[in-house]
Amino acid sequence: MEKHPEESKNPGENKSFLGIYFACCNVYCRIYKNREGTAYVGNCPRCGKRTRIPIGRGGTSERFFIAE
Ligand SMILES: [Zn+2]
Repeated sequence: MEKHPEESKNPGENKSFLGIYFACCNVYCRIYKNREGTAYVGNCPRCGKRTRIPIGRGGTSERFFIAE
């Protein structure tokens, strides 16, 4: 069992999350940037499937993703 710590509650932090659609469970939610700022990582709220969106050079310009 993996629990994600809620340490991402920094008011004023901008663009630290992405909207993502989890096709596995047909749900939409947000995933947050990791500590290193190299990727957005998160889990499906229903089945817990982990997803990771790497952030490229200069950041990703996409604001919406689909996890399959
Ligand atoms: Zn799922």
